[in-house]
Formats: sequence, structure tokens, C-alpha cells
Amino acid sequence: MRQALRLRPPLRRIRRPIALGAATTLVVAGLATASATLPDPSSASGAGPISAREAAEDRGLDPCRIEPPLGVQLSEGVPTGSGYTRSTGQVRSLNLMVDFSDAPGDGPAMKRFSEFFPQTERWFRASSYGRLRYRAETPLPDWLRMPAPFSAYGIERGSPYEPGYRQLVQDIVAAADPKVDFSTYDLVNILVTPNAGPSALDTVLSVTFSGNGEAPQADGTPLANTSFVYSRQDDGSGSYHETGFRVLPHENGHVFGLPDLYTAEGGGAVGHWDIMSEDWGANNDMLGWHKWKLGWLDDKQIKCAAAPGSRDFTLTPLARKGGPKLAFVPLTPESGYAIEVRTRAGNDEAVCEPGVLIYHVRADVDTGQGPITVADSDEESGGCTRRPNVHAELSDAPFRPGESFADHEAGLRITVLGENRRTGAYRVRVTRSS
Ligand SMILES: [Zn+2]
Repeated sequence: MRQALRLRPPLRRIRRPIALGAATTLVVAGLATASATLPDPSSASGAGPISAREAAEDRGLDPCRIEPPLGVQLSEGVPTGSGYTRSTGQVRSLNLMVDFSDAPGDGPAMKRFSEFFPQTERWFRASSYGRLRYRAETPLPDWLRMPAPFSAYGIERGSPYEPGYRQLVQDIVAAADPKVDFSTYDLVNILVTPNAGPSALDTVLSVTFSGNGEAPQADGTPLANTSFVYSRQDDGSGSYHETGFRVLPHENGHVFGLPDLYTAEGGGAVGHWDIMSEDWGANNDMLGWHKWKLGWLDDKQIKCAAAPGSRDFTLTPLARKGGPKLAFVPLTPESGYAIEVRTRAGNDEAVCEPGVLIYHVRADVDTGQGPITVADSDEESGGCTRRPNVHAELSDAPFRPGESFADHEAGLRITVLGENRRTGAYRVRVTRSS
């Protein structure tokens, strides 16, 4: 279970109900100072000096493609490293339902499959705007009985690929291989009988091994991108049949190269704004940053605010297809702030305060260590939801028109100028001093 603790240091921000006219004047005044670029004699060619802003714009989105330093395994960098499953076009998943002599499958194996499908296919279709066509296949519709009892594999939370998993994967391959051509699938889901191992309320065993060339091979292909789902993420609130599938899009997110956004302290860094943060409870979508990383947003839908000065952007709701979706403010080669509009639509069924979500992205922080932190527009408000398994405090994190976020150290201010109630679009001003 995720804890509701909030142990991460809060991001600097200001929140005061400001008159829009006054804010605009203030920001423009700041701009006049910030963007006064000194002519650089060394670049004084025939065309005249090039301002830092023009130079940054010439580089297009490059400054916003933050890069992981060596040693970060599963990072927020763009583009995603090699070895993961392609996240656009048709993706075929092989689904194997597995049981054991000490945990025999209860009921038909296809019933276990139907806990996750077609919901997972629909989830990816909605989140990717139709770009990821996920096809779940079950060439073996019955339980695949493992040769050893579950207890013999020594599976525990956080078990590495050695040695229990290596044995389990080898046994799965040996049992399925005569009837399954592993080389024709893009990823593998092992749907373990829910009575094997502890209840998910006690400990979540579900895990994904991704981008790992050391994985055991089947039909000449390493089973490198494989998700294991155990137990049932049923909190007893009665919503399991609607929301229990969500562990699978989370685990498959790793197959596509996404890191965990929850930390040892729980979901307090990102809350319910991404399925890689919270996959229990009400449905939620992914951050725009992840959608860009996965190729579900085009480069032209991303606005890169790399240059000093002030720029205004229009952003349309993330859940809706088309239009500008994400503004990014790179601060270092490895980090920056992302800005997007979240509303109650599509996969985002639990949004209780729509608006402009602002978050800090770090490519130099590894999975589970807090690579992303959402800025809370209303700290210690308690949030606007009481839905189970939704981190309440961050549920009202989005900034509303008239509100600003500031990172004084970075010389950055982000102000929400207004909302077009007809189109749902928001105007945002980004002002940076350097
Ligand atoms: Zn995970």
C-alpha cells in the first residue's frame, strides 16, 4: 500500500490571488531587464549580434531533451534509451496465466486474463491518442502449471532476476515454448494466479524486468521486457472490477522505459497525476512528459522555453487529442520544469481541480528515487478528494488563473494568465532571468 506521507521538500512557490493586470505589468517589467541581451562582439557578423534567445530558439527542442548521466538505469531523459519495447504502432503482448501445485488456479485462466483485458488495451489507446495499438494475445488459454511449488522460487518484493526469477522464467519458457513462438511478441505479461504469494494489501510483488539483455532467452529472444502481476490490488472499496487492471499499464510502463515515480515514502512526489506514481484506486493518466517520451506527442506539440525573457504559451487539455500540450523550461542539461493542462476527461477520472500542472523533471535521478516532483499550488490544503488510494494533498495541485509558481533560485516564474472556457485552453507566461 502506498503511504500518504509527504516527506519530500516542498518546491518554492507563491500563491496569492493577484489581479491579472497587475501581474502582467510586473512580469513585463521583469522581462525588460531580463531580456536585455548584451551584444557579443565575437558574434558580430554581418547579420548583427545574435541574442541568447534567438540562439536558443535556433536549437529548437534540443535544450528540452534532458539527458541522463551515465549510471542512471531507468531515467526521465528524452529520448528513452535502447532495449525497451517500442511504444507506438501495433504492440503485441503475449499473456501467460501461470499457476503452481501449492497455488492452483481458481477458476478458468481466461477469467484471470479478463481482470486486465480489454481494459489495458483501452487505457493505452486513450492515453496515447490511438498511437499505441496494444494487442493482447493468449495462445495458451489454460493455466500453465509450473514444475515447482510457488514457495520454491523464493519470490519476494524487489527480487532481482537471480536466481528465483531466472528459474521461474526458464520454467515458463519450457512449459510454453512448444506451443508459443516468443519471437513474434513485443512484450510478455505473466499473470500469476492471485492466490500465489501474499495479498497485495500486505506487499506488492508485481514487477517488471525491462531493457535487460541478460534475461533468459526463448526462441532466440531474451525475455527482456516482461511484466509479472501477482495478487489483486483490491482495497476492499468495491472498485476492484473497475480499477484493478491498472497495475498492468503501470508495469508495462516500465517495459516502455518509464521509471517509478513513487518513492520509499509513497506517492507524495507526484500523487495521482501519473500511473507510474499511483496505480491503485481511480483511473489516472500519464504526465505529458511521459507522453512525449513515449512518442504519443509530436515535437510540434512541445514548447521549449530555453531562452531568458518572457514568453506566453497556449496549452490545451492533455486528455484531448491535438494542439499544444506541454511547455518545458530546461534549467540544466539534466533537469527542468514541465507545464501542462489537466482536466477531468479521458483516463483522468479523479481530477477534482482542473488547471495547470507544474512539475520538476530530473533525468539524473533514478527510478523510485523521485525523478519528478509536482508543485502544489495549495500546500497543506488537504486536497479536494477523499477517494481511496488517491494522494489527497496533491489532488488540488494545479494552478488556476491568477496564480503563479516561482523558483527564485533559478530565476523562474510561471504565471497562469487565463482560461478559455469555450476551448478549455489555458494561457501561461514563463519568465526566466537567465
Ligand atoms: Zn513500478
